[in-house]
Amino acid sequence: MKIVGLTGGIGSGKSTVSRMIQKHNIPIIDADLLAREVVQPNKPAYKLIVNHFSKEILLEDGTLDRTKLRNIIFSDETQRKLLNKFTHPYIRREILKLVIWYWIAGKRAVVLDTPLLIEGGLHKLMCYVIVVYCSEQIQLHRLMERDNCSEDVARQCISAQMPLKEKIKFANFVIDNSGDLSETERQVANILNKAKPSLLNWLLIWLG
Ligand code: ATP
Repeated sequence: MKIVGLTGGIGSGKSTVSRMIQKHNIPIIDADLLAREVVQPNKPAYKLIVNHFSKEILLEDGTLDRTKLRNIIFSDETQRKLLNKFTHPYIRREILKLVIWYWIAGKRAVVLDTPLLIEGGLHKLMCYVIVVYCSEQIQLHRLMERDNCSEDVARQCISAQMPLKEKIKFANFVIDNSGDLSETERQVANILNKAKPSLLNWLLIWLG
């Protein structure tokens, strides 16, 4: 089974592309979703976070106040590293569980969708890395529209990340999502075709 990393910049179109890949019957592991699941009140990472940041970062219903937490870690790298230390081992464990599950289920590929694939060093474990790219102007425009935020805030979010042009250097495939959705769909289909096993590989798989 091929494990493929899908990454990009904020608002560059990772979720859009992963929905397109899913239509080709390839499962997606959404690391953002797992990151939200591992901090639910009944999970061990939750306890570590509340012990460190205090109950000040909780909402009335006992769940984490994500905005408060984001504001703390946005301006303080030490706190950001600590939060990662509390959550990353659990996220990695969940990813591993899902990879094994899809492998047992006989899937030919699984895609790991994560914005921090390269920053976290996970790209080194992937068979292929796909980077979803779009021009900074379009990224800015789509981000402002989707999140209903000002240009300043959108620019801040973009510049807090590794530049997309840097991420491209780690890519086996780049999807340019600057155009319309059908143009992106076409690129997705092209990449999936290229990544299909050759006849020789099929024979080797078939012969076990
Ligand atoms: P995040 O990093 O915040 O999770 P993302 O990389 O997953 O973002 P998306 O949510 O897929 O990005 O896309 C950002 C916005 O741009 C969304 O509103 C989406 O509908 C829109 N969008 C994505 N691709 C296109 C496209 N090719 N044409 C028009 N709009 C697009």
